[in-house]
Amino acid sequence: MSATPLDYRRSQCRRDGCTRKRRHPDRAQFCSGLCADLDALLSKVERTCRESSSNPATVELWTSTVEAVDAITQVVRLHSRIWRESQPDKLLSP
Ligand SMILES: [Zn+2]
Repeated sequence: MSATPLDYRRSQCRRDGCTRKRRHPDRAQFCSGLCADLDALLSKVERTCRESSSNPATVELWTSTVEAVDAITQVVRLHSRIWRESQPDKLLSP
């Protein structure tokens, strides 16, 4: 039986910007501990920015957080790609 789009969404990592699949879709919402930590960081910063919205530094805090998370997403994507290309006989991802 082939996967439907709904099944695909269900097995997708919950973090915005991550396209990896969850390794244990039945018990984990993220593909990795790193994504879980990044999602927690984003939620925490978002909450702080909302609670301290009159502080102009929250704009820089939010911008810096999004840039850092985007950079880590790119590191993971490039690492996976280069690792896969160096291991053509293997089916597992790092
Ligand atoms: Zn992920």
